[in-house]
Amino acid sequence: MIVMKFGGTSTQDAKAQSNVASIIHNHVHLSPVVVISAIAKGTNYLERAGKFAEQGNSEEAIALLTELFARHYQILETNVQDSTRKKGVLDVIQHSFNELKELVRGVSILRELTPRTLDAFYCFGELLSSRLIAATCQEKGIDAVWLDTKEFMVTEANHNRAMPIMELVQEKLSVIALPLIRQGKVIVTQGFIGITQNGFRTTMGRESSDYSATIIGAALNADEIQIWTDVDGILTADPRVVSSPKKVKTMLPEEAFELSYFGAKVLHANSMLPALEKNIPVSIRNSMNPSHDGTKVTTGSNTKSCIKSIAYKNNVSVITLSPYKRYGQFIFWEHVYNILTKYDVTANVTTTSEFNVALALDSKYNLTAIVHELSSVGKITMFDRKGIVCVVGFGIQQTPEFLSRIFASLQGMKLSVISFGASKSSITLVLNEQEVEHAVRQLHREFFEGEIDVELFEQNLQE
Ligand code: ASP
Ligand code: MG
Repeated sequence: MIVMKFGGTSTQDAKAQSNVASIIHNHVHLSPVVVISAIAKGTNYLERAGKFAEQGNSEEAIALLTELFARHYQILETNVQDSTRKKGVLDVIQHSFNELKELVRGVSILRELTPRTLDAFYCFGELLSSRLIAATCQEKGIDAVWLDTKEFMVTEANHNRAMPIMELVQEKLSVIALPLIRQGKVIVTQGFIGITQNGFRTTMGRESSDYSATIIGAALNADEIQIWTDVDGILTADPRVVSSPKKVKTMLPEEAFELSYFGAKVLHANSMLPALEKNIPVSIRNSMNPSHDGTKVTTGSNTKSCIKSIAYKNNVSVITLSPYKRYGQFIFWEHVYNILTKYDVTANVTTTSEFNVALALDSKYNLTAIVHELSSVGKITMFDRKGIVCVVGFGIQQTPEFLSRIFASLQGMKLSVISFGASKSSITLVLNEQEVEHAVRQLHREFFEGEIDVELFEQNLQE
């Protein structure tokens, strides 16, 4: 069996949903389990409605929801003709709208939108979109069944960024999903949302439907996980920055994992983990160009040393810290990491000398509070407006030539932090934000704008 995940642009309107159903139809022989995102911008609308309600502005909240629901009615109207089927989904949509109006009323009275309540808003996006896809599939003769994630996607109770409890997910899926798959049914379920052991809806972080897909794929030991999106696959660099990116045909899981952490929007950061653990191939495909192969992420891909892609991210701050007193080295680090853990901060890059530590953190965190706490253990300097460039490619560590070419490309640029050695497949460089795009272009020119290895890369076919 395979898992097929479709993102928001792939499900945004009636035409897109009908196209998704056709793609599913072409894969029925592979026993797909289908994971669906909310229609494009749906999650943002639900979030904004929640925030308006929190401010006591229930009219604005209802106006947004009305707009959002109109899109769902429109999809139903266009794609579903069978009257009983149509009535079934219509009832669900109407009921959901009423539930959301109740939520808006409650929140605007209390003027409080807790993470748990926000999840109660969020979940409707995926619930409705997946209902519509299931009905559209049935219209096309697919034996599709809609399955609510509340039946199996058990997570911890940390709302808005919940982590799955894998053993429970696996146990439940094998009881519920496997018999359906054996009967030849195509399961259609939701990305992004889960359920606590006490029955409250959770979500796993924005854009986490990819993660849902790999969790389900790993739990069911899928043969392949397909991430259907709106680009042809993983590119050698961001097309908004370089003019002629190439498509990467195959990639190793660890390369994709590094990339997903450093700004490559095509895959959610956690999503490679379950696939890596179970060694399941992941492919990234374009729902607007379904005959195209996309990028295949698999351990079976090349093992020759090669630079595959350049990712970047901005809005980074660098904090360096020198201890006031000579604690033992590990005690100092323990202090530092305890503070980061307390604020739930993941450092993009960490480097240490014998005693000093440099951390590159996303500026979005509450850095004032973190710096305040860190200053109790050491002297701090902080630099804002930094960015990160990450060069990814298996074997980068064993190939000195790559390093000299990287540094030659970045000549004259001021590097603040360099991380190399912890990962076999990447080098991460922190530099001034205004130099980041230039650095990406220079590196891209060096590695991808001459002759390319046609086994690994393809001229990007998209606009
Ligand atoms: N619908 C959710 C979001 O917009 C999850 C996803 O699309 O992956 O964040
Ligand atoms: Mg996405």
